[in-house]
Amino acid sequence: MKEQKLGFGCMRLPVLDASDPTSFDYEMIERLFDRFLEQGFTYFDTAYTYHGYQAEKAVKKALVDRYPRERFVLATKMPLRDFKDGEDLERIFAEQLENCGVDYFDFYLLHNMGHNVYDKCCKYHAFDFVKKKKDEGKIKTVGMSFHDMPELLEEILEKYGDRLDFVQLQINYIDWEQPNVQSRRCLEIANKYQKPVIVMEPCKGGTLVNVPKEAEELMKAYHPKDSVASWAFRFAASQKGVIRVLSGMNSMEQVLDNTGTFQNFKPLDEGEYEVIRKVAEIINQKTAVPCTACEYCTHGCPKKIAIPQYFALYNSVMLTTGSFSSQQVYYNNTVLNNHGKASECVGCGKCEQACPQHLPIREYLEKVKEKFEGESIFTVRK
Ligand code: SF4
Ligand code: SF4
Repeated sequence: MKEQKLGFGCMRLPVLDASDPTSFDYEMIERLFDRFLEQGFTYFDTAYTYHGYQAEKAVKKALVDRYPRERFVLATKMPLRDFKDGEDLERIFAEQLENCGVDYFDFYLLHNMGHNVYDKCCKYHAFDFVKKKKDEGKIKTVGMSFHDMPELLEEILEKYGDRLDFVQLQINYIDWEQPNVQSRRCLEIANKYQKPVIVMEPCKGGTLVNVPKEAEELMKAYHPKDSVASWAFRFAASQKGVIRVLSGMNSMEQVLDNTGTFQNFKPLDEGEYEVIRKVAEIINQKTAVPCTACEYCTHGCPKKIAIPQYFALYNSVMLTTGSFSSQQVYYNNTVLNNHGKASECVGCGKCEQACPQHLPIREYLEKVKEKFEGESIFTVRK
């Protein structure tokens, strides 16, 4: 069977209660997985930390327990922010095999590599650890998901490239030249070291699905039948060295649209790149906070501030010209649901250390506060 480039990202699986990431909607998840496999795709990407540390178990239930092992390709990741020492690497890895109900992982990644965890990885030999697991037959292919500057990527590949078979990078047409991500330069470095690339965040957490109207019109004028999302996937999959592109699908419509894009995959041509350049300009002008909603920042926040939700509301307000009463209601409801207000931030900076996009979260929360906590409209839990 032809190897397909689309992978099923299990970071945003369907849930029954939006405020509880562990309330999996198994009926829906199984339908999505089944259809994805029926369409000729096999790659599933999860992680120890996704969905409140329960995603691996959900993947076991919805996939591993229902299909023969050779029917799917499974990827998961070692949480670099969580492990404490070498023993902990062993403990977590053993737990992951059990969580997933497998004897080996097809792909295994050091998760969210960046300057904040790199020294710890060197000190406790995390690169040697994954290589050892590969030698033991517990991992077939070893890599890392990388969220930092190109200089660090180069340093790691220079030093530890012999332990890594591939790298996972954030590549999309908005981050291509963004100073805080630099997709293009990171990709060039991966190419230089001949490391195949798996793409994460090809739609930048949904930003490239819900684009401003003028941007959508440009794409529809060029290809009336193609979805907005298909442009983002084709951009990512067209780049040199890319072997897979992940998509966190949570509806049947997305599964059908994305699998259709990849079954009939065509790399972008010059005319299409030109459309994308214009679309990127429009989006960049309109996106106030370039957050991907990954939620890494919320884990250690002492005030339980719903950072990505507040940023999404703020972005949506900045795109509107009139009243923003519905966003205000969402903001108030989120606070009533026991999340800290933006103004309750104590400035500890833990969120910024965890943010793979390197966003100045505290500064943005100030803007959120100004927008949603004006005296006249903000009346809850003062
Ligand atoms: S700086 Fe503010 S938002 Fe960030 S973790 Fe600390 S309290 Fe939470
Ligand atoms: S602020 Fe950063 S860490 Fe938090 S959800 Fe957005 S991109 Fe992720």
